[in-house]
Amino acid sequence: MSPISPLSARASEAEPAELDGWSPTSWQSRLALQQPEYPSAAALEAVLRQLGRLPPLVTSGEIEALRSQLAEAARGDRFLLQGGDCAEQFAECDPVVIAGKLKILLQMSLVLVHGAKKRVIRVGRFAGQYAKPRSEQVEARDGVDLPVYRGDLINGIAFEPAARTPDPERLLRGYERAALTLNFIRALIDGGFADLHHPEYWDLEWVQHSPLAAEYQRLVESIGDSLRFMETLSGEPVGQTTRVDFFTSHEGLHLLYEQAQTRQVPQRDGWYNLSTHLPWIGLRTSQIGGAHVEYFRGIANPIAVKVGPGTTPEGLLELAAVLDPRNEPGRLTLIHRFGARAIARGLPPLVQAVEQAGRRVLWVCDPMHGNIERTAEGFKTRKFEHILSELEQAFEIHQRAGTYLGGVHVELTGENVTECTGGARNLSEGDLARAYRSCVDPRLNYEQALELAMLIARRMRH
Ligand code: PEP
Ligand code: MN
Repeated sequence: MSPISPLSARASEAEPAELDGWSPTSWQSRLALQQPEYPSAAALEAVLRQLGRLPPLVTSGEIEALRSQLAEAARGDRFLLQGGDCAEQFAECDPVVIAGKLKILLQMSLVLVHGAKKRVIRVGRFAGQYAKPRSEQVEARDGVDLPVYRGDLINGIAFEPAARTPDPERLLRGYERAALTLNFIRALIDGGFADLHHPEYWDLEWVQHSPLAAEYQRLVESIGDSLRFMETLSGEPVGQTTRVDFFTSHEGLHLLYEQAQTRQVPQRDGWYNLSTHLPWIGLRTSQIGGAHVEYFRGIANPIAVKVGPGTTPEGLLELAAVLDPRNEPGRLTLIHRFGARAIARGLPPLVQAVEQAGRRVLWVCDPMHGNIERTAEGFKTRKFEHILSELEQAFEIHQRAGTYLGGVHVELTGENVTECTGGARNLSEGDLARAYRSCVDPRLNYEQALELAMLIARRMRH
């Protein structure tokens, strides 16, 4: 447990009745899992004060725009594409890496718009995805025990006592890098990122290795032929895509960090987390009565929660009642992540319970986190076929239940890494050592991500 900061100045202001005891600090009286222990409470306090005064990264207007788009997705009228790194790294706050991520997400969204004939909501796992929940507290190597790496927001990955000691200055560094990332993304989008309109510039070499090569070629050509898809994408004529065309998200894990960005906005009710548009609660911190659920229930943003093995129908309904008491469209997104082997048994009872309760949620499949394996050499990896299988089963389960699978949540990068096996080029375990760069979970590379988008588009079309 972290030392608790008394940063409650704004929380003591008048509170609307429906907040029912909530304030930006009310989570502090609950058990907060996965929080770092800082060596100096005074240093932490000084950083949090600075963070609390810095300008916000996003606006409540953008957040509200996202909420209404998520409400449309929950109704079946849009599809959410949420993707990015498992853990952003400070050292990768780099124009080539950021542009690469934006490019693959935009290209995937074009494939989905075109293939699925649905408007797509693009949400990055970026500009703040710096804190990681961990299953172990301690990492042992060669007889030495050190605290685990918890993401660049908290400590360093180097296996040295100094690096692994949580440093509050990292909260400021993370906030600044989130701002730099977002600034660059906004600028690229405002500038039109023009070559995206021309699939002839896409990197499509891999397509020829796919058994679906001819179909993919046709898909890509028809995207090229059509300017209309660009208009469907933004709802506006080409060239007039707006700043809010892309949204950000991260796991709202480090609660003192999130609290420092939780603000009241003139002319609006409630408290917004202005560090991101769509914060989510991870699987490890979604306990009813826990600090994360307490914090999230009071913020005005649309929010998401991961659900998976261990989530019961009763527990999920209770969680939904706490997080979305007004059953408000767009408020609650449920991201299920069971794994290809467990989804057939685990998901249907949850979908059925939520449906019978008349809850209006957005269902999203994360086909990544239930499919992690370790190779003999010790690489954490995922098989493309398992990712695809979980997604296909998810589409079928929702179809049978009469619900709508309204999005996908993936870990990917625009780089040519070798972290997940399979895909059209059939990467093997032997390929992993070549370009494994993730410091936490394995990501789809550029080609695998585009292939996945084509397969989803195909599934949604047929
Ligand atoms: C993640 O999204 O990186 C993550 C840790 O997921 P989950 O909470 O679903 O395990
Ligand atoms: Mn991950």
